[in-house]
Amino acid sequence: MTDSPRPARRSWWLEEALALPEFAGPEAPALQGDTTTDVVILGGGYTGMWTAWFLKERSPELDIVLLEADICGGGPSGRNGGFCDGWWGHLRDMVTTYGEADALELLMTIGHSPAEIGAWCEANGVDAWFTRAGDLAVATNPTHEGSWARTLELAELLGIANEYEPLTPEQVQERCASPAFGGGMLIHDAANLQPARLARGLRRVLIDRGVRIFEHTPVTRFGPSSPAIAETPAGRVTAAEAVIGLGAWATWWKDFYPRTTVRGSYMVVTEPAPERLERMGWTGGEQIRSLRSSIHYTRTTRDGRIAFGLGGLQPDLARHIDHRYDYDRRLVARVGRDLYRLFPSFEGVPLEAGWGGPINVSGFTMPFFGSRGRHGNVHYGLGYTGNGVGPSHLGGKILASLALHAGDGFTRLAVVTKTPKRFPPEPIRSPGMLIANAAIRRKDDLQDRRRWVDPITMFIARLPRRLGFNLGPR
Ligand SMILES: Cc1cc2nc3c(=O)[nH]c(=O)nc-3n(C[C@H](O)[C@H](O)[C@H](O)COP(=O)(O)OP(=O)(O)OC[C@H]3O[C@@H](n4cnc5c(N)ncnc54)[C@H](O)[C@@H]3O)c2cc1C
Repeated sequence: MTDSPRPARRSWWLEEALALPEFAGPEAPALQGDTTTDVVILGGGYTGMWTAWFLKERSPELDIVLLEADICGGGPSGRNGGFCDGWWGHLRDMVTTYGEADALELLMTIGHSPAEIGAWCEANGVDAWFTRAGDLAVATNPTHEGSWARTLELAELLGIANEYEPLTPEQVQERCASPAFGGGMLIHDAANLQPARLARGLRRVLIDRGVRIFEHTPVTRFGPSSPAIAETPAGRVTAAEAVIGLGAWATWWKDFYPRTTVRGSYMVVTEPAPERLERMGWTGGEQIRSLRSSIHYTRTTRDGRIAFGLGGLQPDLARHIDHRYDYDRRLVARVGRDLYRLFPSFEGVPLEAGWGGPINVSGFTMPFFGSRGRHGNVHYGLGYTGNGVGPSHLGGKILASLALHAGDGFTRLAVVTKTPKRFPPEPIRSPGMLIANAAIRRKDDLQDRRRWVDPITMFIARLPRRLGFNLGPR
């Protein structure tokens, strides 16, 4: 049962979506020849596509070219867990990083995104399985119990306590029976969706709106000049403004390398077993995540499957992104084993597929946005740290404002004005992160098994926080 499942083609979500004509088409052929445009967008994930959407909303006359190396949604935007959250779960770190006033402003601003994404799907006929059922953070070992108390205290202080609901172990079991779950905290303002349907639906709507999308068109060279020039294998795009929405692939760009790094996140999905979900009482549609630092995240699908993931995994030193981020047999098998440990009542239900993707990590665990170039005409947004489905919607608004040089409330948010702490340079960086990540996971695994954590593991696991990063345990 815990053998590695078959590798999904990019992800099971994309397989499901691309089988349907409304998500597969229309065609978006590769760029052939040179062209000029008002705005060129690099990357066809949520960030690039929401930016195109908000630019068209604000300035319908703009000509926009979007260049995607693979297919739109082929990266993490079509492979993720589909948790569509704001930042309520980040409250403690946000107050530490930005201060109370800026943290509150960010929370209130992004608070609109899950509901707006649902409304957008409705208005545009995109059936992305949008389900607004809340986000349940659960204790999976005694060290997690009550760890939400400080969040609740802060929420009380800031007047946002109604966003959170502490749950007893019994209340958690009523929502989803698992022998691994203790008490928890429910965040009301959260939804989940079929991520690839959202990505492909966005793509269709943008093409309808006249955005010129070129898939299978990698940007091979980019000049942050004014105008900006994006070279591709069979043509170049010259544009007044450029937006970089390349997620983890931007990590090795000179400007971003000090402040972001890459980790892997891997998922499996079971075959359908709605009757077992019924017996577990997990029929309310809520998404569930563990309170581990190396987080387990899980949700159900419309046809009664469990989709289950584990973050903070690295196939190697993460010095580049290769096929192991799409699928790594050992890591996917590990995720499958964890699924059955948390949900033993699914023993006997086979895993249908597994896959992975690169996570773009910032030291704040929050994304950051800004403009570069002598004329400030190259704009970027990255570093979502595994929480980009909801935040990339706000990211699109911010990047549209930056590209329009609007100088408005979006461009003054703290995720624009504050840049994350720099990661140490090589040769410390890659091995250091691999070792710290392994220690964090080992600590979490030992605690989940009710075992003693040796002081060396604990020391290394806590090192990132001691060095000022919002990563790993406190
Ligand atoms: C397994 C997994 C589970 C996740 N689960 C969740 C979750 O449940 N909730 C959540 O909020 N977040 C989750 N995330 C994170 C979330 O998916 C990302 O934060 C989000 O998709 C980022 O969107 P993006 O558009 O910035 O980047 P991406 O989706 O990475 O898009 C970047 C695009 O750029 C393209 N590209 C790369 N190089 C080039 C080039 N040279 N030229 C042109 N195009 C290029 C890529 O092909 C890609 O399509 C998860 C991620 C993974 C991998």
